[in-house]
Amino acid sequence: MPSLPKWINDTVENVWSSKFKDCTVTHIENITPDLLRVRFATDLQDTSYEPTYAIGIRVNDRDFRNYSPFNFNKEEGTFDIIFHLHDVAAAGSNFVVQLSVGSSVKILMPRGKRFYEHNAKIHFSIGDETSLGSSLSIKEAVDQNKGTFICLHELEEILALETLNLYGYHSPKNNTMRMIEALNDFLNEENEAIHNDEAVFYLTGNGERMSLFRKFLKARGVSPKCIKSQAYWIEGKRGL
Ligand SMILES: Cc1cc2nc3c(=O)[nH]c(=O)nc-3n(C[C@H](O)[C@H](O)[C@H](O)COP(=O)(O)OP(=O)(O)OC[C@H]3O[C@@H](n4cnc5c(N)ncnc54)[C@H](O)[C@@H]3O)c2cc1C
Repeated sequence: MPSLPKWINDTVENVWSSKFKDCTVTHIENITPDLLRVRFATDLQDTSYEPTYAIGIRVNDRDFRNYSPFNFNKEEGTFDIIFHLHDVAAAGSNFVVQLSVGSSVKILMPRGKRFYEHNAKIHFSIGDETSLGSSLSIKEAVDQNKGTFICLHELEEILALETLNLYGYHSPKNNTMRMIEALNDFLNEENEAIHNDEAVFYLTGNGERMSLFRKFLKARGVSPKCIKSQAYWIEGKRGL
């Protein structure tokens, strides 16, 4: 979301007041030094939610940032976010490190592209630290529908995957060969499912990495309709 003058953001909050909710931070947990899991509580009874939807947080007068809720529980009135603290001087990360249990945050409720393919047999989520919440939201939906969930994350600290119960392929950051090898293994193994358009790929995270993997999947015969992609951040660009 672009940086906007304070008065425009104030107007958005007023005109769209029904889309915002006052949320309270009820739990904060360090997954790794760069990954923070935060639980928010509010009344969610009338709130619609789909896997991979994003919430918006006004992190200062001029800026909103998008984050992916998961573990979205309407009855309990809680949801979780995993924040990647990539640079504590950046507006979003700086806002997050100042949260503490009891903090009150006005949050733009989940919205976004309808990304999740309910009827797919295999759901493959690919991304980085910013994609962990989105992967978990897909995994939760797949677990309810008896499909197969697979993921491939490029991460600074692989340990995060174990803590989050996100078992799957992984790679150190910016190791293109390792990522392509993992995708190749999967494509070779699931040749028939790919041919029958039964596997859906969800690409999120760094925009440039995402387009590289998208091109590779298409070159290996994955139908474009089976590739869902959304850039979560781009080098040098603030707040997508
Ligand atoms: C739909 C959607 C869902 C998202 N869900 C999540 C989520 O669940 N968790 C999450 O952590 N992020 C998520 N993001 C990404 C997050 O909104 C961006 O990373 C955002 O830019 C962070 O804001 P910032 O103010 O910290 O950095 P900015 O001020 O926006 O960025 C400053 C600079 O830092 C760099 N940068 C930005 N983000 C990263 C990063 N993650 N790693 C390394 N360098 C970076 C860029 O070069 C950028 O120019 C999501 C984005 C979208 C669009």
